[in-house]
Amino acid sequence: MALLNPDLVDVVRQNNEFNASACMNCGVCSAVCPMGIELLPRKLFRYVLLGMEDQVKVNTETIYSCLLCKVCEVNCPAGVHIAENVRSLRHFINRQVFRL
Ligand code: SF4
Ligand code: SF4
Repeated sequence: MALLNPDLVDVVRQNNEFNASACMNCGVCSAVCPMGIELLPRKLFRYVLLGMEDQVKVNTETIYSCLLCKVCEVNCPAGVHIAENVRSLRHFINRQVFRL
């Protein structure tokens, strides 16, 4: 069973923005994404908030497949800063997975 890391969101947030708590899982972001990315931001951001570190790390490819185009962000009814959150996740993956 995977362990939860209660500090994960603070680690991801290190020097960067990460704020997804306003997300209401409406699915608009997934519907408009030109890459058809369903996981981002609905599930992956929630994994971060819940401390599900292993689930975040195994989705490295998805985190890097985002174009940072912000089509999802401009359509998000909750005003989640999706692209900045993805950037923060990439910094986290660089540090924790790629050891950069
Ligand atoms: S559009 Fe915004 S509120 Fe809706 S699921 Fe995506 S991030 Fe959450
Ligand atoms: S920034 Fe663009 S590619 Fe990335 S999840 Fe949003 S719509 Fe999809």
